[in-house]
Amino acid sequence: MPVVDAHAHLFAPEQRDRRAVLAERDATFAELYGDPAAKMATAPELLAAMDDAGIERAVVAGFAFADAEECAAQGRAILEAAGEAGGRIIPLATVNPAAPGWRAAAEDAIAAGARGFGELRPWNQGWDPLGPQGHTLADLAEATGTVLLWHVSEPVGHRYPGKAGGITAVELCELAEAHPRARMVAAHLGGGLSFYLEMPEVRASLANVWFDTAAVSLLYDTGSVARLADLAGPERVLFGSDYPLLSPRRQLQRLKASLPGEFALAVCGGNATTLFSESHQP
Ligand SMILES: [Zn+2]
Repeated sequence: MPVVDAHAHLFAPEQRDRRAVLAERDATFAELYGDPAAKMATAPELLAAMDDAGIERAVVAGFAFADAEECAAQGRAILEAAGEAGGRIIPLATVNPAAPGWRAAAEDAIAAGARGFGELRPWNQGWDPLGPQGHTLADLAEATGTVLLWHVSEPVGHRYPGKAGGITAVELCELAEAHPRARMVAAHLGGGLSFYLEMPEVRASLANVWFDTAAVSLLYDTGSVARLADLAGPERVLFGSDYPLLSPRRQLQRLKASLPGEFALAVCGGNATTLFSESHQP
């Protein structure tokens, strides 16, 4: 079973070079990457980290720039990296649904090979995930078999750069209920959404929602992924590192140590392989 990191980030090399300028223009970018010590990775670095961790493939997301041109530049870099990586990079696209022409940009990205969209930060970009754009995006994901990766954060607990501005657990639940066939990933253990899977009607609404473990070691205790697998079912949990924020090798070790062997195989690669399969038919 291949090991898959379902949540890593890349930038175009020229965007990393321009980080100071980008931080002046984009408040969310400044919050996450304004500090020169905050890591921004390019494709060769990601592939080296994957080799170091024994990871075969990674789902690569971008940053939700407000500027549509920056989204497009980042998307081109991720698609190019995927093209050069011989199947090791599963590319996601970024779009800003608050910007004119976004739908055409999203369709172009899918035609060029993007397997989904993310990491989605609707409120940072200035759109309502339950407004027309959110529904259009969910319809598009359903129609094309692509996947929406949402930044979800906890309504409680400590603050961290980039915590706010994604989709809330409540909003994601409502969107999933309206689009039961659209496949979505709730990042960062879903920000508490999994608790409500214990309600039968919520479990039914979330039948096509997966949960990733990105940044879990910064947020939750060591038993949290095992409890999530118990609540959601191990088939709905995806190992994600949030590289380059965290080391995939250490995150993978931590996760494997916390799960029974048969769960670990599915969580560390089997589930993502199925979810992002190009043969998925909507
Ligand atoms: Zn996130």
